[in-house]
Amino acid sequence: MWTEKTEIEKIEEERLEKINDDKSRFKKSFRGGIIIFSLVAVTWTIASLTIGIPQGRYIPASPRDVIKISELPEYLPEFLRLAAILGFVTFLMLFFFRSKTKTTTLMCDKCHTSKNFDTVTKCGCGGYFKNIDNFKWIDD
Ligand SMILES: [Zn+2]
Repeated sequence: MWTEKTEIEKIEEERLEKINDDKSRFKKSFRGGIIIFSLVAVTWTIASLTIGIPQGRYIPASPRDVIKISELPEYLPEFLRLAAILGFVTFLMLFFFRSKTKTTTLMCDKCHTSKNFDTVTKCGCGGYFKNIDNFKWIDD
């Protein structure tokens, strides 16, 4: 059956969550940075080979200044620098501005009907809807 968590249980749960979070945060952020780095490096390389490099902010006389594969190595450091910068920025953003994903499901504290989050907090049975994080399931 569903039962409401006690304050102590909630605090303990939050504490454990925080520990796990701190452990995985660096890894997750780092992975995000690597993904963006690869994505930018690959996309930029492909784009340069197919549509060419933009020649500054004005439309160049020859817009399709396509790079040949043999020319790629001389452009590569530039791609990689940009990709590395974006990857690093992504890493920092993920590391410092994580959005905590909270469940948005509500459950009535009396009849245990659940629903998606909305502004109606009173249930038809007379109970009140609370975030489902406040409840736990225990076997009878
Ligand atoms: Zn109810």
